[in-house]
Amino acid sequence: MQLIQKTYILGALVAPVLGFCGSHTHLSARAEEGEVKINTFGYFGSIGPENWAALDAANSLCATGTRQSPINMADGQFHMLSASDITLEMPDQPEGAEFENLGTTVEVVLEGKGGKLSLAGVEYELKQFHIHHPSEHLDNGTSVEMEVHNVFESADGQLAVIGVYLESDLGSLVNVATRARRQEALPAGTTNFTIMASSALPETDAILSPMLETVFEKVDEIAAPGSKVTTGSLVFSEYIAALMSGGFQSYSGSLTTPPCSEGVNWLVATQRLKVSPAAVRRVSSVVKFNSRITQNLLGEPNILNFATVNSAAQA
Ligand SMILES: [Zn+2]
Repeated sequence: MQLIQKTYILGALVAPVLGFCGSHTHLSARAEEGEVKINTFGYFGSIGPENWAALDAANSLCATGTRQSPINMADGQFHMLSASDITLEMPDQPEGAEFENLGTTVEVVLEGKGGKLSLAGVEYELKQFHIHHPSEHLDNGTSVEMEVHNVFESADGQLAVIGVYLESDLGSLVNVATRARRQEALPAGTTNFTIMASSALPETDAILSPMLETVFEKVDEIAAPGSKVTTGSLVFSEYIAALMSGGFQSYSGSLTTPPCSEGVNWLVATQRLKVSPAAVRRVSSVVKFNSRITQNLLGEPNILNFATVNSAAQA
């Protein structure tokens, strides 16, 4: 998940040990200046995930934590929750919502908009959702094109994140091509593609998300890190209904971005969503690659520690 919470949120998790400073956070920066604060970590080279712990002493868990996210969602790593085990509300936003480029992801800000999650007797408030490309969690070993992280926080600073696998609707692409071909409007030379795609496409039960499609229509306008725009009208009711038609794979993990704080309640939806191929392409061209490497099994040594020990043994 993307770290954009106010410092006091993380403070509840890490401040006693790490002494976080509240003046350098994303949301406080926006409140003071109306500007989007760009993250300083990244996904490549010296600021990439292998080196996050060295960027700041507050990030030590990135290299030492033993319940780090993301993980491969395989049997034994999670327990299943049914939709009836949680209550999820995300009110429609007819006026749209702020959509920001944080440099490391694009994010829809929903703090104070009435979104709520109730889980195991704890109520969490929706803060935002953001996008990873490709998915951070692996679905039983498989990477998915994108993953949406819906971030919630309780009054006492606990975090819960609903992860949603998002794939492109290749079916709609074929439908469009087929329709165009039927109308003899398809340019010469594309017939073979239509036939190939129709026969090669696997079945998918992912549900189209008009809400995400609406958000992604504006992603070109925030191509520059630090920029923001207001989305079109967002109808969350279909999004919620789609997620609640499946179950949730639950485990206790971490932020997937610095400072990698643990104790995050993860719920990974079993129901995948989909948007148009064009939307996936637009988002990926802005977000680039922003997925942390898959971490070790829960309770095992941190993957970076693991790598260091092994390389030392071979030296
Ligand atoms: Zn995230």
